[in-house]
Amino acid sequence: MIIEETEVETQIAFQDRKRIGIMGGTFSPPHLGHLIVAQQVGEQLGLDKIYFMPDAEPPHVDEKESIPAKHRESMVRLSIAGNPLFDIETIELERGGKSFTIDTMKLLTAMHPDTDYYFIIGGDMVEYLPKWERIDELVQLVQFVGVARPGYGRESIYPIIWVDAPLIDISSTEIRKMVKTGRSIRYLVKEDVKDYILKEGLYLDDED
Ligand code: ATP
Repeated sequence: MIIEETEVETQIAFQDRKRIGIMGGTFSPPHLGHLIVAQQVGEQLGLDKIYFMPDAEPPHVDEKESIPAKHRESMVRLSIAGNPLFDIETIELERGGKSFTIDTMKLLTAMHPDTDYYFIIGGDMVEYLPKWERIDELVQLVQFVGVARPGYGRESIYPIIWVDAPLIDISSTEIRKMVKTGRSIRYLVKEDVKDYILKEGLYLDDED
């Protein structure tokens, strides 16, 4: 009798757990690749929500960080508008400084002990995982979910759930170049994001 009650309690505890996807990135700018990937992962894994989490300052310093974070946050908000599955997590922007995923996920799991986190990465990130700060600790804390990206394989020494989604050959780097050279980015980003980029004059300078 006691055993049965424990089993029922365990089952309820399991069912009560939230399943949340985290899509971390620089989002400079957010594009349709991000949205398609997040939607596919959310639906295929039956997640309750996907949070887009812009970094304040990526751990690897490079040129794509040169537009202010407020613009990236605004564009993420415009991108996810109208999709009840999507939301934004601004914890790294509020914290500022370098964003190590392990520090962020430790904070989030401490704040939400009833939640299982699924950390979504594109195929290009997989080969860098061994270089991520305290990766061995991070893989204990979150389940990595991989989505293939053109030109990148699936080999990983870490456990990754691969989700099948259409291969989307869109990158923020390419979009920034297209804006700079006056090419159209229509249909590569949400219409509102395209208008925002043009209105604010983003990605026109050499250092953007
Ligand atoms: P950049 O070209 O500046 O490196 P990006 O297009 O890779 O940018 P990020 O904001 O760096 O965009 O990416 C956030 C996350 O989304 C990363 O895990 C990245 O691998 C993934 N991602 C971005 N674009 C795609 C895509 N087209 N297909 C699959 N995953 C993607």
